[in-house]
Amino acid sequence: QRLDIADPIRTNAILHQYHFEFKKSLGQNFLTNRRVIAGILAAAQLQPDDLVIEIGPGIGSLTEQLAREVQQVIAVEIDQRLIPILEATLAPYDNVTVVHQDILQTDLASLVAAHAQPGYGQIKVVANLPYYITTPIMFSLINGVTQPDVLVLMMQKEVAQRIIAHPGHKDYGPLSISTQLQMQAEIDQIVPKTAFVPQPNVDSAVLRLHRYAQPPYQIGDRQRFDQVVQASFQQRRKNLQNNLLRLVGKDQKSELSAVFSQLGLAGTLRAEQLTIPDFIELTAALADFHW
Ligand code: SAM
Repeated sequence: QRLDIADPIRTNAILHQYHFEFKKSLGQNFLTNRRVIAGILAAAQLQPDDLVIEIGPGIGSLTEQLAREVQQVIAVEIDQRLIPILEATLAPYDNVTVVHQDILQTDLASLVAAHAQPGYGQIKVVANLPYYITTPIMFSLINGVTQPDVLVLMMQKEVAQRIIAHPGHKDYGPLSISTQLQMQAEIDQIVPKTAFVPQPNVDSAVLRLHRYAQPPYQIGDRQRFDQVVQASFQQRRKNLQNNLLRLVGKDQKSELSAVFSQLGLAGTLRAEQLTIPDFIELTAALADFHW
């Protein structure tokens, strides 16, 4: 009986067999700890009819475990050198499709249309992410046309903490807000460096995101909302009103003060004290401002 790919001995054997050299620039840190992978699978609450999309399968350690749980796995890998390796390691699993592509150039809708068998239930994205592109990946998964129901993503611990942060916390900011607008987010497990080969320089966390069935917030103008949020956090040491003054311009200074008194917001307030509904209200109150 063969060892799982996610076993240090098997992983080393594969790496040796193919003379594989890790590319740091591609964020290649492979998981060799089956307990961590078991936690990832549990967080995803996999159902047999789920369509799982994996970003960056590496040599297939997570992919293999996913393939045992669900009917279909589509794995997108950028590194050409890994494609023949994956073909061999995942040969026993005919429910896995490996797509050689850059995830940042991949439109999820086209990927699903091209490779998924019809009749699947939920779309779930499960990945040990390449950390150098965590934020753009998150952004397109959350705001893209095809929106997965569940995301279970290994990422740098600090980024996960920023995503789940609430008002009043130093990590709270635009990333927390844009994520929490649409998804419920929680950290499922903190993962030590030793779970990977090679070991990354940072600690990691598995983040679980679940899309709200009913979006809890109604935003009038999303683009302006994002601009207000960005501007509010522009300089964290400055108060909210001064940050917003940079957005609206000095010619609207007195109108801005009027909005603050109208909303009952103190001039000394800082952006991290505002909840999402506060930002929605603020954006609406700035509707007549030009910038
Ligand atoms: N899933 C494997 C595991 O857990 O052992 C590998 C995870 S490793 C952290 C990240 C993987 O993403 C690598 O295989 C890397 O080559 C791949 N990758 C990096 N940039 C990518 C991109 N833009 N598109 C798709 N895959 C990418």
